[in-house]
Amino acid sequence: MECVICRNGSTSQGEVTVTLERNGSIIAIKAVPAQICNNCGEYYLDVEMTKEVLNRAEQAIQKGVEFEVIKMNKVA
Ligand SMILES: [Zn+2]
Repeated sequence: MECVICRNGSTSQGEVTVTLERNGSIIAIKAVPAQICNNCGEYYLDVEMTKEVLNRAEQAIQKGVEFEVIKMNKVA
């Protein structure tokens, strides 16, 4: 798809690390499948993956961690 940020690149399938910060907790989620812009590096997650990422982050935050690195497993 065409990148909506720079309007100059197109995206291709890859993996990114998503970092979220909330309530003093920093959660890094690695190996998240995404569409990545080949021009500006912006990435796009689909709706299901966004939910999954937020779920994982929420679980870690509930545990009260300050910093956690999670590796995203392939979702069937
Ligand atoms: Zn772009």
